[in-house]
Amino acid sequence: MKAEIAVMTEEKLDENALDKAGQILQQGGLVAFPTETVYGLGGDALDPAASKKIYAAKGRPSDNPLIIHIADMGHLQKIVKRVPEKAKILAARCWPGPLTMIFEKSDCVPYETTGGLESVAVRMPVNRIAQEVIRRAGGYVAAPSANTSGRPSPTMARHVIDDLSDKVEMIIDGGMTDIGLESTIVDFTEEIPTILRPGYLNQQMLEEVIGEVRLDPGILSTDSNLRPKAPGMRYKHYAPRADLAVVEGSMENVVETINTLARNRLDEGAGVGIICTDETFSRYPLGKIKSIGARSNEESIAMHLYQVLRAFDEEEVDYIYSESFDTPRMGQAIMNRLLKAAGHEIIEA
Ligand code: AMP
Ligand code: MG
Repeated sequence: MKAEIAVMTEEKLDENALDKAGQILQQGGLVAFPTETVYGLGGDALDPAASKKIYAAKGRPSDNPLIIHIADMGHLQKIVKRVPEKAKILAARCWPGPLTMIFEKSDCVPYETTGGLESVAVRMPVNRIAQEVIRRAGGYVAAPSANTSGRPSPTMARHVIDDLSDKVEMIIDGGMTDIGLESTIVDFTEEIPTILRPGYLNQQMLEEVIGEVRLDPGILSTDSNLRPKAPGMRYKHYAPRADLAVVEGSMENVVETINTLARNRLDEGAGVGIICTDETFSRYPLGKIKSIGARSNEESIAMHLYQVLRAFDEEEVDYIYSESFDTPRMGQAIMNRLLKAAGHEIIEA
């Protein structure tokens, strides 16, 4: 099987291709499509066989649950037992958008989709292509990130094609994703709503809407006794082929330290890659330099992170040194992904 590629934009939808995507999904097949966070690998969420196909295509461990994507608020009640008041308020403010909420599941949601759990994760994406695919599929689409398990999430159709073109029926190319990091996950099965995965929406933004929100202590810690509650956050995620380290400290010290490390490695005959920002790009004379965007624009950093990590996998480098991107709003989400890729290797400059 070789996936059919359909190119469209949110402004100019291809109705025929969307109809076909809906048919494929209704018949139990798989379609990859863009959302505002990353590309998703979609299958009918209420069909256990389709969920199994998703796990097989990604090579994903079957105890790592899938997020069900809906396009209409009226569809939520069928798949959950109860929606707490605060979740309703948050949905009214943040859906459609990059927010996933976890509820107790109803009986119609198969355990194949929830990885055996009694809870279910639900999101309503804002991307119009995603919404139209979901509606045409019957309303409930399980869609984990459309990458091979263990690789960076895809932010462009090219990444999906590289990983999955012979494993899905159709890939919708809707250009680069707007945010480039996975959704914020908030668990409403806990007494106090708890963030299981940081994303575009941070703790402070959520607290402004619904009051106290906790952060799962397992997600930022390197202590292996503190296990993150979201199964997917426990797995060793993507690790680049090269040895990646994050260099922290004042900007002057970081630049100097990275240049010294690069020189030493190059003298040893190794290949070196550097992940920096537009502001510092010209200050690295050695190695292969990739800017992740302007530090003054954290959206651009989030958007390019996975792309730069994937790009370095194709280059002949043995060591990658990255600046730290602890930016004001999305810093926690960006650093969560980057530190996981680095296996928590931090160098203090
Ligand atoms: P992905 O769709 O690839 O972004 O991954 C989905 C993430 O949501 C993974 O980290 C899952 O472990 C997490 N997740 C999905 N459903 C649940 C659930 N019911 N309880 C806790 N975490 C969940
Ligand atoms: Mg994923």
